[in-house]
Amino acid sequence: DIVTRFAPSPTGFLHIGGARTALFNWLYARHTGGKMLLRIEDTDRQRSTKEAISAIIEGLEWLGITWDGEPIYQFARAERHRQAVEEMLAKGNAYRCWATPQELDEMRELARKEGRPPRYDGRWRDRDPAEGPKDRDPVIRLRAPQTGETVIEDLVQGTVTFPNKDLDDLVLLRSDGTPTYMLAVVVDDHDMGVTNVIRGDDHLTNAARQTQIYRALGWDVPQMAHIPLIHGPDGAKLSKRHGALGVDAYRDMGYLPAALRNYLVRLGWSHGDQEVFSTQEMIDYFDLAKVGRSAARFDFQKLESLNGQYMRAAADADLLAAIDALVPHLPDAAHRLARMTEARRAQLAAAMPGLKERAKTVVELLDNAEFIFVARPIPLDEKATALLTAEGKAHLGRLLPLLEAAEWTAAATEAAVRQYAEAAGVKLGAVAQPLRAALTGKSTSPPIFDVLTVLGREESLGRLRDQAG
Ligand code: GLU
Repeated sequence: DIVTRFAPSPTGFLHIGGARTALFNWLYARHTGGKMLLRIEDTDRQRSTKEAISAIIEGLEWLGITWDGEPIYQFARAERHRQAVEEMLAKGNAYRCWATPQELDEMRELARKEGRPPRYDGRWRDRDPAEGPKDRDPVIRLRAPQTGETVIEDLVQGTVTFPNKDLDDLVLLRSDGTPTYMLAVVVDDHDMGVTNVIRGDDHLTNAARQTQIYRALGWDVPQMAHIPLIHGPDGAKLSKRHGALGVDAYRDMGYLPAALRNYLVRLGWSHGDQEVFSTQEMIDYFDLAKVGRSAARFDFQKLESLNGQYMRAAADADLLAAIDALVPHLPDAAHRLARMTEARRAQLAAAMPGLKERAKTVVELLDNAEFIFVARPIPLDEKATALLTAEGKAHLGRLLPLLEAAEWTAAATEAAVRQYAEAAGVKLGAVAQPLRAALTGKSTSPPIFDVLTVLGREESLGRLRDQAG
């Protein structure tokens, strides 16, 4: 059975590239009926934080990416990592090295002069450990093969060959006994029964080194799939400027998790021309064979338009839930929460069909719903002020008695406004625009007769009286 894993280092937020890696692992596991495990690679004690762990877990949950079993914490397994090194030492596949920092510097300096990547020159590889200095502890290095090649059959990259002469004897245990990242990944993947390693192609060289560790331990190498990194629209590696932000930042910008997930699955993977996938379709169709080898480009506009599509198709209740998830994270959270009374929530729900047609993000939707949350006399933006000319205000003044007499339904208020416009010999817009400005404080809004219904008779008439000339 297939076992995949997502193995983030909790040194920062769950960034968008990591989220896509998690998504691919999740989809591959679900597609094959296998499992996806979560391993928190917290061995860097200086940089790993509790906050980052929570951010990663919350980000995955928000995206609807689930894992099997409890998360595994790498640092807690250090003893097991050391034990694996003992095995390698016993087999002669690892050795102790007492090279000093100064010696290593010299090796680096030499490499620099010769214009090649630095490598450890193997000076302790064949020495008798009894010759090692007694006053300090050695590191333990892998006795890597010096000739031949290490070959990776990668499901995305194809056959990738590394000449062994380019791979030096890497450190497995530091002199303080702590395991290196390279070792920990191998031992953990093995012990967790991982069959498929799916991760960013920045780990491709690591894959060669890890393959050597697997061989030294006599273990099977999992199937590898190194997926191309995400680049910005300009082709450069994704940076903050392009949107290499945490998943939480996308939530705060008002994207729906289902839309972001759909956007991410298409970054590097395709299924014909299809752009929109239900969760089940993603699971049914996902295959590593259809992951391309070239870097995917992150395109904000595409994400936005996909999100708009998801917003229009979303159930009103789901959008209300998305608003509830978003509001506490907005810069003016306290203010917004204070205004979210039961009555206004009900108004928001009533306005949802009109609101969701017009917004590309939940933030935009909330902005467009601002008319529900303001109190009389409502603030007017510049365009609304411009619409409330003396003539516009005069129209409102003459329209008022007709609305006061109307039954309070969208159909009846619309009939009243049309009747008035006709009688006054002006276009509907000449009345509807000042009406909109007075009711919402803006020049755009959901359909104006829906606004009248949502606000209710008293509030609507009150706002009109505030502006009528
Ligand atoms: N912890 C590594 C990272 O966050 C991933 C290691 C792996 O997937 O093998 O880049």
